[in-house]
Amino acid sequence: MSSILVLVEHRQGAVRDVTFEMLTAARKLGAGSVEAVLMAENCDVLAPSITPHANKVVCVSGPAFKEFSYEPYQKALVKLIGEKKPSAVLIANSAFGTDLGPSLAVALNAGLVSDAVAFTEADSGFSVSRGMYAGKLVADWAMPSEPAIIMVRQSNFKPEPASLGGAVEKWDAGDVASGAKTKFISLEEVPTTGIDIAKASIVVGIGRGIKEAKNMPLVQEFAQDIGAVLAASRPVVDAGWLPKEVQVGSSGKTIKPKLYIALGISGAFQHIAGMKGADTIIAVNKDPKAPIFSVAHYGIVDDLHKVVPALRTKIKEMKS
Ligand SMILES: Cc1cc2nc3c(=O)[nH]c(=O)nc-3n(C[C@H](O)[C@H](O)[C@H](O)COP(=O)(O)OP(=O)(O)OC[C@H]3O[C@@H](n4cnc5c(N)ncnc54)[C@H](O)[C@@H]3O)c2cc1C
Repeated sequence: MSSILVLVEHRQGAVRDVTFEMLTAARKLGAGSVEAVLMAENCDVLAPSITPHANKVVCVSGPAFKEFSYEPYQKALVKLIGEKKPSAVLIANSAFGTDLGPSLAVALNAGLVSDAVAFTEADSGFSVSRGMYAGKLVADWAMPSEPAIIMVRQSNFKPEPASLGGAVEKWDAGDVASGAKTKFISLEEVPTTGIDIAKASIVVGIGRGIKEAKNMPLVQEFAQDIGAVLAASRPVVDAGWLPKEVQVGSSGKTIKPKLYIALGISGAFQHIAGMKGADTIIAVNKDPKAPIFSVAHYGIVDDLHKVVPALRTKIKEMKS
């Protein structure tokens, strides 16, 4: 039976959602054991939020883990993985993970697949899927040797509740700080609007079909009517009509809302890579051959400037 180690990602005292996404994916694999590795200044603080989701929480405390810095994490993980000999190690494909994962794989002489969107156990090791050529195709990679280091795409798996009530195992990393060539100086957050499109259940995506900035209020009001957040294709972000943090796609965010309404979006593969996992997709496009219709569950072939006001009127009628 395989055993999986999942590296808990946390920032400023909060466990990041991707941790629960990875733990869910690991549990669904039917692994013999799923152990979460929590490295923090005082890991007792965060451990209770993880124990329901794993068979065990390996708690590694120390000042070296107060903020993320890849060297202490890597040193500790090399030692821990050497002791536990897991079949696979899951690390988020985040800024944090991309700093750590490759150097960890080199230190362990292990195989690594980044930006993984699916993984299953194979006859020997794991089969891991990831997009290639900016999402144009999905390649399955064989990872026959252990441990397989799998860097998991964020917002790709849906986190699910669990009640495993895993035990907490204290583990001493020893001296991991000395000799470090890098050090954490400060965390500077990019100013954001506070809107996280990856957390919204209804998202209205705006594409170049909106034509001009002066047409934005139409879609903003529509989104408000239906309790949605606005997202965008890249040209809309490049034009400065919406901030980069709401861009959907291969160089933006991957989202899995309950409902995604694409307005005037052609459906380039770079965009589809970020929203094809939505439960329901509705597309409005005046071109019946637009590729967005190949992933849409419902499609309206018409001018969005006619469709959106008509929808708003209908919704108002239904609400009253
Ligand atoms: C390396 C790389 C990374 C990229 N990353 C991303 C990414 O993360 N996200 C992303 O979105 N793109 C990304 N792109 C860009 C991508 O290739 C497309 O250019 C982009 O998605 C197109 O955006 P769009 O659908 O809004 O515009 P267009 O392709 O111009 O499509 C506009 C659509 O609106 C329709 N339309 C026009 N007027 C109306 C109307 N009045 N009513 C209804 N429909 C109308 C048209 O029929 C057309 O289908 C990337 C490209 C590269 C090279």
